[in-house]
Amino acid sequence: MSLALFRWSVVLLLCLFTSAAVAGEVRTRKNKAKAPRLVSLPGGHQLHRDTATAYQRMAQDAAKHGIVLTVTSGYRSPHEQRWLYEQYRQGSGNKAARPGQSKHQLGIAVDLIVGKRTSKRYRWLKANACRFGFRRTVRSEPWHWEYHPRSTFPPVAGFDCLGRKTRPPEPPTPVATQDPS
Ligand SMILES: [Zn+2]
Repeated sequence: MSLALFRWSVVLLLCLFTSAAVAGEVRTRKNKAKAPRLVSLPGGHQLHRDTATAYQRMAQDAAKHGIVLTVTSGYRSPHEQRWLYEQYRQGSGNKAARPGQSKHQLGIAVDLIVGKRTSKRYRWLKANACRFGFRRTVRSEPWHWEYHPRSTFPPVAGFDCLGRKTRPPEPPTPVATQDPS
């Protein structure tokens, strides 16, 4: 092999190597952008980090009113969503969106135990979830709530999410102080 040919071969190999490395880097970045940043909730379900924070705030507020929120589904992997969709198609599962179309795959949808639409839990959610950025998006699924903080508006002060007047907050109970002796 002549020296010139050898040099050209080296240059060509370097070019190939660099472009492969760049393509790999781009692929990695794309994958990173796609995968939601997930956080596990105490019950084991996962949600997108921001959704989890908002959900936990909402659950704590509900607890103050004696309401326990329970998650039955949070983030779903593409595999899980495909399985649920197949179950639904075969008539043996709940309604499920096509893989790739469910907000569960983004980690911003949460399914909750709500009971009947007249239940205390459901009524509390309807009146308060918007304060935390959550709202219902599927008419036939009262258990399905999505986190859309930019397009879910909190109520004006003194009103709940249904536009009903809320009771003014109770004045703080005076703390008994000991007289200095
Ligand atoms: Zn759902």
